[in-house]
Amino acid sequence: MSTSTRITLDPLDLAGIDDLLTPEEKAVRSSVRQMCEERIQPYVADWFEQGTLPDPRGLAKELGSLGVLGMHLEGYGCAGMSATDYGLACVELEAVDSGIRSLVSVQGSLAMFAIWRWASEDVKQRWLPAMAAGQAIGCFGLTEPDHGSDPANMRTSARQDGSDWVINGRKMWITNGSIADVAVVWAQTDEGIRGFAVPTDTPGFSAPEIKHKMSLRASITSELVLDDVRVPQEYAFPEVRGLRGPLSCLNEARYGIVWGSLGAARSSLAAALSYSKDREQFGKPIAGFQLTQQKLADMNLELTKGMLLALHLGRRKDAGTLQPVQVSLGKLNNVREAIEICRTARTILGANGISLEYPVIRHMNNLESVLTYEGTVEMHTLVIGQAMTGLAAFR
Ligand code: FAD
Repeated sequence: MSTSTRITLDPLDLAGIDDLLTPEEKAVRSSVRQMCEERIQPYVADWFEQGTLPDPRGLAKELGSLGVLGMHLEGYGCAGMSATDYGLACVELEAVDSGIRSLVSVQGSLAMFAIWRWASEDVKQRWLPAMAAGQAIGCFGLTEPDHGSDPANMRTSARQDGSDWVINGRKMWITNGSIADVAVVWAQTDEGIRGFAVPTDTPGFSAPEIKHKMSLRASITSELVLDDVRVPQEYAFPEVRGLRGPLSCLNEARYGIVWGSLGAARSSLAAALSYSKDREQFGKPIAGFQLTQQKLADMNLELTKGMLLALHLGRRKDAGTLQPVQVSLGKLNNVREAIEICRTARTILGANGISLEYPVIRHMNNLESVLTYEGTVEMHTLVIGQAMTGLAAFR
């Protein structure tokens, strides 16, 4: 007769995925979780309601001290952690709010990665240590008012004038835009699309903030207006031409979203589980009704599958074998399931589900942006379709 030891299972990790993490990975996760719970969670619903981040520079410095800005990059003051560590950090950041994870993703995976991978040594030295410490903030300007999913046709242009470049155009929906010290701007040139690290105090550069958002309200989103912005030759990324440059950065940021979106889902599931045990109708907790348990079980299954996929992709990234289409699989699945988990959680909270007293509707609204940015559901579907069939259906 075999003896079995009964282990207390975490209701949100019934599969025991935690056992697949190393003690070091768990330590990274708990330090990010602790900072988020102490410094962000008590305030973030108010920031969302007010549609602002009251002290983005202070917050960036705190995140810099924690080591999460460009944490998976090597050198230049960056923490040089693994991709899995970075993913686990994204879960905790997005469990408080997708806007906070967006700040970190845009800083680390878009602006810093672009500079780290593609800029001249002088530009790297100038920006990366300050960005890792949160003393300088970056943004990433690819999307334009008339060109979102199809950036190859962007209108922003850069022309050479003596030893300078002169950039003209407009970018739209740019996270961190109006608080940035440096903007990575992608523009058409005679040699194809090129990237530029533009200091935002350059004459002709402005970044009006976009208001009236119903999603990612605790995040700064801006237009970038470039009106004869003149920068020296060294600010142009020397080697990369074409969409390969921006797509390499988007791939990094999408990887973080594969994980981060599950943070919003976990937070919503935790809220729904707790609420369902307290809330009584028809003389008993609503958690005791089979229909509620079906919702809880289905949410749990999708969270579990999403975490396994994220961890698998993280291990591949750490092994250097992660392919862009695999990131598309993760981004498409995990954001789609995360928003579904939030919507289901919202139903369990009934009318309270629409109140900012609980995190659920905030996460749900935030994930509408996450579903769209870094490649829409449709774009990732087409990437997967192309990989399966060998046929591109983008146009
Ligand atoms: P469109 O490209 O106009 O698409 C509209 C719809 O048409 C979508 O459903 C799309 O999937 C569909 N569609 C388009 N083409 C096809 C096709 N071939 N087949 C089938 N369906 C198609 N951008 C940046 O550069 N930097 C940032 O920091 C940044 N931050 C953002 C923050 C927020 C809050 C938001 C909402 C967006 C941000 N974006 C940023 C922009 C984001 O990346 C774009 O919104 C996204 O790429 C989609 O572009 P679009 O909104 O122009 O939609």
